[in-house]
Amino acid sequence: MQLSQRDKAIIWHPLTQEKTADLPIAIKKAKGSYVYDEKDKAYLDLISSWWVNIHGHAHPEIAKAIYEQAMNLEHVIFAGFTHEPAVQICELLKTLLPESLTRFFFSDNGSTSVEIALKMAYQYWFNQGNEERKLFLSFEGDYHGDTLGAMSVGAESGFHDPFRNLFFEVLNIPFPATWDNDEWVEKKEESALAVLDEYLEKHGSRIAALITEPLVQGAKGMRMCRPEFLRKVVERVRHYHILVIYDEVMTGFGRTGTTFAMDQIGVYPDFICLSKGITGGFLPLALTVTTQKVYEAFLSDHWHQAFAHSHSYTANPIACAAAIASFKLLSKPETQSAMAAIQQTHIENLSCLKNTCKNIQCSRVQGTIAAFEVEGQYDFNLNQALKSRFLSEGLLLRPLSNTIYLIPPYSTTSLELDAAYAKIASVLETLTRQKQVSSIMLDMV
Ligand SMILES: *Cc1c(COP(=O)(O)O)cnc(C)c1O
Repeated sequence: MQLSQRDKAIIWHPLTQEKTADLPIAIKKAKGSYVYDEKDKAYLDLISSWWVNIHGHAHPEIAKAIYEQAMNLEHVIFAGFTHEPAVQICELLKTLLPESLTRFFFSDNGSTSVEIALKMAYQYWFNQGNEERKLFLSFEGDYHGDTLGAMSVGAESGFHDPFRNLFFEVLNIPFPATWDNDEWVEKKEESALAVLDEYLEKHGSRIAALITEPLVQGAKGMRMCRPEFLRKVVERVRHYHILVIYDEVMTGFGRTGTTFAMDQIGVYPDFICLSKGITGGFLPLALTVTTQKVYEAFLSDHWHQAFAHSHSYTANPIACAAAIASFKLLSKPETQSAMAAIQQTHIENLSCLKNTCKNIQCSRVQGTIAAFEVEGQYDFNLNQALKSRFLSEGLLLRPLSNTIYLIPPYSTTSLELDAAYAKIASVLETLTRQKQVSSIMLDMV
C-alpha cells in the first residue's frame, strides 16, 4: 500500500477536515529550500514548513550539532539540574534582546510559551495580594496557539469557536490592519485607540496584561500594522501598570526584517514568547523571557509563590544544541544579506504582479514576509483550487482564505523567488480566466 493510504488508515492530521481533505503528500527528503515527494517531485517550501524553518532544510551544521549533543547528553530533568547548552543559548539570546529582558523560562512549543507568559503575568499580581487583575487585553484576529489560555486570548482568530464557553474574559481591541498605499490607516488606528481608551478608563485597574502579535498577525492571514500604532498602545497601557506580552513566536529570528519585531516598535515588553524559528525548524523548543522585576515577584520563603509550572522536556539539551547552531547561522553576515535580498525581491515582484493581475489587492511586505488578497470575498473553492494548483506547479503555499502569503527560509535565492512569483502570476491568470468563462456560462443559463 502507498504511504499516503497507510497514513489515511491510521493518522488524524492537525488543522484538517479529515472527511474532505486530499490524501497527504508523502515527503521522502528535504534539502535547502525544497522538500521532495516519493516520486522525487520538488516543492519550493515558501512557507518554511509552518513558519519554523529559517536556514533551509537538513542544514548540515544544525544536523551535526544535534548528533554530537545526542551522543553526549540527550536529556536530563531540568528542576534541580542544568547543562551547558541551556545556559549557553540563553546567554547568546540575551545579547540580541533589550537590557530589560534577562530571565529565561524554557518550554517546548509556541502555545505553551504563551500559556506561561499569561500564567506568570496573572501570578505576578496574585503574589502581591492583587486578585483584582484578572482581565487580559488582546487584539481582534490575534492567534496565540491552541491551548486553553492561548485560545482565550486568541478568541477572535476564528479557529476556536467550539470552545468559547471555556474561555476566561478578554477585552479585544480592533486591529488596524494596513497595506501598501492604505489611505485609511490613521483613521483605523484612531478608532482602535479610542476603544482601548474606553477599556482602560472602565477596567484599567482590573487588567493583568496585554498580549499582542507584534507587527504581523500570522494565522489570521499575515495582517500587518504600523509600529507607531503599537507604540501608542503600549504607552497607554503602561500608564495603568498593565504588563505587556509580545508573542514573537512567528515574528522572531529575523522574520520582520529586524531580529525581533519589537526592535521596530521601540518600546519593550515585560514578556517575550519565542519558538518556531528558534531551532531553525529542527526540534521543538520555546522560551518565555521576562524581566528581573517579574522574576523577583516570585521569590519568597513560601512555596506557593513559586512558579509551579513544568514540562517533561523542559530545556531538552538536543533542542538547545540545535538552537545554538541556528543562532550562529543567523548571526552570519551572509544570512543578514539574504534576508534583505528576500525583502527586496518581494517588493519588486509584488509591484509587477499588481500590474499583470488585476484581481490582486492589499499587497504588503514586512521583512521576509509578503502577502496579498485575491479579489474581495472569501471563497472556499478558490482557496482549495489555489492550493492544489500551486502544489502541482511545485510551490508549497497554503493560502489562508483568499490571502496568499510567502514566508520562505532565508536560503531561498532571488532567482528561486522570481520564478515562484512568475508561477503564481500564471496560476492567478488561469483561474481568473476560468472564473470569467464560468460566470459567462452561468449568465447564459
Ligand atoms: C504558531 C504560533 C503559536 C503557537 O505555536 P505552536 O508551536 O504551534 O504551539 C503562538 N503564537 C503565534 C504568533 C504563532 O504564530
